[in-house]
Amino acid sequence: MNDICLGRCCFICGAQPGSKVFNDEHVIPEWVLRKFNLFDRTITLPNGGTVKYGRFKVPCCQDCNSLMGRQIEERISKVVNAGLEAVQKLIAEGNGLEFFVWLGLIFLKVHLKDREFRIHHDLRKPDDKIGDLYDWQVLHHMHCLVRCFVNGASLEKEVFGSLGAFAAKTAGWREEFDYGDIFDAQTMLLRLGNVALVTTFNDACGAINGAMPKLEKIEGSLSEIQAREVMVDFAFMNLSLKQRPRFYTECDVGNETITEKAVMPDPFELGELNFALRGRLLRDSFGESVKQIRVAGKTQQEIEQAIDGGRFSVLVDETGTFIKQSFTPDSR
Ligand SMILES: [Zn+2]
Repeated sequence: MNDICLGRCCFICGAQPGSKVFNDEHVIPEWVLRKFNLFDRTITLPNGGTVKYGRFKVPCCQDCNSLMGRQIEERISKVVNAGLEAVQKLIAEGNGLEFFVWLGLIFLKVHLKDREFRIHHDLRKPDDKIGDLYDWQVLHHMHCLVRCFVNGASLEKEVFGSLGAFAAKTAGWREEFDYGDIFDAQTMLLRLGNVALVTTFNDACGAINGAMPKLEKIEGSLSEIQAREVMVDFAFMNLSLKQRPRFYTECDVGNETITEKAVMPDPFELGELNFALRGRLLRDSFGESVKQIRVAGKTQQEIEQAIDGGRFSVLVDETGTFIKQSFTPDSR
């Protein structure tokens, strides 16, 4: 925590600045910035401020950076460039590990970067940073997974979280690329063209199991706001698990091996569902789009009440049928 979360050491191996050559790493990988023409576009921070994607970097040593490029970025870019079906096939065949590690790296970098940004825009207010609000300890498990390509740790299948690759409508979204996350639930959404990836990192697949009855109803491509609801449902299920999996690292000193393992609750169970929590997650994730949602026969106030009540859905209608004609928020 001192070296990586609070210090300026390489975010993968923890090398001290000055002890090695550093060539800092883009938070959003460079090939994604190129593919979606994002270098001069801006990412919106939790404080409402913006920063250019091209300048959005975290400290990384050259060794880790090159290794990451060869072992992860090259392979992922090949699959993403091949399109939605290639991504879904890779995950369905049980090879989602690379995607999971890749998404974990992005999630980690996004949050490490937040220690540089002020909570308050007003310079007369205290200089607290957004990252000061994070409990860094909860990212330990994720860090153990994402650095596996450097320390050679083997990962047991139980340590993986939920990962879904959904078809996304290309028309209507403000950009071809979108990123969203819910830190407390370690859940993120990444949209790359017609692929929307939704993942939860610390649930040992509890989130996707819990959300499955609803996910099975999806019969078409997701709109922007529908993808956000899927992210909310992954997060909601993760936060509703009755017992959480526990993760640990086993070091075999004799054989010099490291293995990431999990102690699983048996069986997987959801606790009592707190729909007010789901309401808060929906409101945060929909953002400004909330004001543009229209439902036949309902006033704006009734819609907002339904959202806050936590049972609202833009994914399925009252009969449980997938909404094919989901609305498109106006561009900001
Ligand atoms: Zn390094």
